[in-house]
Amino acid sequence: MPLQDVIGHAAVIASIQRAEASNRLAHAYLFHGEASIGKRLTAVRLTQAFHCEQRQDGAVIDACGVCRSCRHVEASTHPDFLVIEPDSEQAVPQIKIEQIREIEQQIMYRPLIAERKICLIDQADRMTIGAANALLKTLEEPPDHSLFFLISSRPAALPVTIRSRCQALRFTTPPRTQVEAALILKREIPPSDTRLLAIISEGRLGDALVADPAEIRARQREVMELIRPQTLGSVTAILAQAESSAKSDRVPELLSWLTRWIRDVIILQVGGDRDHILFAEDLETLEMYSKHADTDALLDILCDIEQTDRQATRHLNLQMALEQVLLRLRDACTAQPVSQRS
Ligand SMILES: [Zn+2]
Repeated sequence: MPLQDVIGHAAVIASIQRAEASNRLAHAYLFHGEASIGKRLTAVRLTQAFHCEQRQDGAVIDACGVCRSCRHVEASTHPDFLVIEPDSEQAVPQIKIEQIREIEQQIMYRPLIAERKICLIDQADRMTIGAANALLKTLEEPPDHSLFFLISSRPAALPVTIRSRCQALRFTTPPRTQVEAALILKREIPPSDTRLLAIISEGRLGDALVADPAEIRARQREVMELIRPQTLGSVTAILAQAESSAKSDRVPELLSWLTRWIRDVIILQVGGDRDHILFAEDLETLEMYSKHADTDALLDILCDIEQTDRQATRHLNLQMALEQVLLRLRDACTAQPVSQRS
């Protein structure tokens, strides 16, 4: 059953099912929570449940997944299911007022075959001010047959006036065990890859489902190479790495990988759960560093990387930022001269 197929959001689904059964559906819901954890999928599955042709009178809504309506909703070709999303072709993807106007006109008409006309607005926080104002007018006097699902991972960026017209439902990140179970079900990959994807996606199942384990391992090896004592101990090697990463526009990616590696060292230092270690293949190096590295300095570096991340859009010199991080990492990791350890 498609509704049971949705991983980790049973509470949200049940609350909508209950509202429907007791005739207390809101006209607009705001699904909010981290990106790529299944908010849009849940809205699509719920729409299938509302529109399903197999539905028995009086039964709780659910989707069969195979009837004509369910298939049309899945393909976004159902006449009573309208989807709006930012135009991804644009440099800054936005939802424009024309898109909302079109919905506005269509939502006024009675549904063609279903009981309701359902409108899904993905990344609703990307509406222009004009678009948001136009939507607000519709939300203030919604037609009886209308139901809106607004989806956002940045709900604070939505105008308060819009938020106040929606019933907000928070989506939480599913636990790793659930992500692993879903990956086993949906992808034919070995258990070690399942574990890797589940850890690295941090519960974002949408990402885990499409990520390429081979590519992740290649990135991992690159970091492992970079933090070898021979490399980290050599200023020349550090400068060369920063330069080549900057040339290929890969500084932010490398910094986020370094963050993961530093976290692994800290997990070992504080005696945390080893099951969360990402660089499990290189445990020996991790353990070596964990014995000597200065935990406070590592935590400081993590803060700095986060800062760099926020300032990256402001033309920060990324090559210099990476150099700084690596040099400080070298200092933090080498309580004794590197030459004596390698
Ligand atoms: Zn169906």
